[in-house]
Amino acid sequence: MTDPRELLARYLEQRWALGETSYTFSSEGEAVELMASPNTQAPAQQPGPVRADGAEQWRKGAPDIPGPGIDIPVPSTDLFVGDPLADKDLDQLGELIRACDQCALCGERTNAVPGEGPAHADLMVVGEGPGAKEDQQGRPFVGRAGELLNDILAAIDCPRPTVFIANVVKCRPPGNRNPEGEEIAACLPYLYRQIAVIQPKVILAMGTVAAQALLEVRGPLSSMRNKVHRFRGIPLVVTYHPAALLRNPNWKKPTWDDVRIARRLLAGER
Ligand code: SF4
Repeated sequence: MTDPRELLARYLEQRWALGETSYTFSSEGEAVELMASPNTQAPAQQPGPVRADGAEQWRKGAPDIPGPGIDIPVPSTDLFVGDPLADKDLDQLGELIRACDQCALCGERTNAVPGEGPAHADLMVVGEGPGAKEDQQGRPFVGRAGELLNDILAAIDCPRPTVFIANVVKCRPPGNRNPEGEEIAACLPYLYRQIAVIQPKVILAMGTVAAQALLEVRGPLSSMRNKVHRFRGIPLVVTYHPAALLRNPNWKKPTWDDVRIARRLLAGER
């Protein structure tokens, strides 16, 4: 039996791999729960890169087994009440975002990254924030993490051109650090309005920041994945960020489990 302290150490290593340099447990019980969690997996000793050369390659080693039971909380009836951007379409939002100076990140950006995809996509992917390549190009999820995302989407029969892809914050945090609370708070109205315009059938939140921002909860990603949440009535699935998968291929299998839940929801299954 694995030493609980070793499990906790592994979990904190996972957080570090996700770019977090500190973590505050919400309760003593959370630490105890983590130490007993079968989802707490050690990073590979020598992870190496995940090859992003096709959906089948991405799925390799991830058997198509029956998914877990889906727990759907009671839907919220609070449908975008009081949205300050309520009359804006996606193009207008893009213009506002590119000119925005509502938080300190505006001084760091080369390009703002509003997001891209069809105005009425069935699936909406939400990440954390732009990285260096995204900042250079003004597009979300480019580079190796973007290629891996493309493979993940293809594996669930949702090719990237059919998906709207956005981030919680639209400007790059320096050094790829996590966005801070006030930056997220300043930027969230844009994401809320994008979701209200697109009205996706399913939201896929990739990474802890996206999950916590949309669900307004704090907790480890392992406690939020593998189930269906609701964001203002829209089914929301949480999984790992592709950049985290590049660092730790051990998370490929749980990610596949999560995106299959999204695929089942898109197909109208519950
Ligand atoms: S991160 Fe968001 S709120 Fe901050 S400057 Fe960029 S667009 Fe504006």
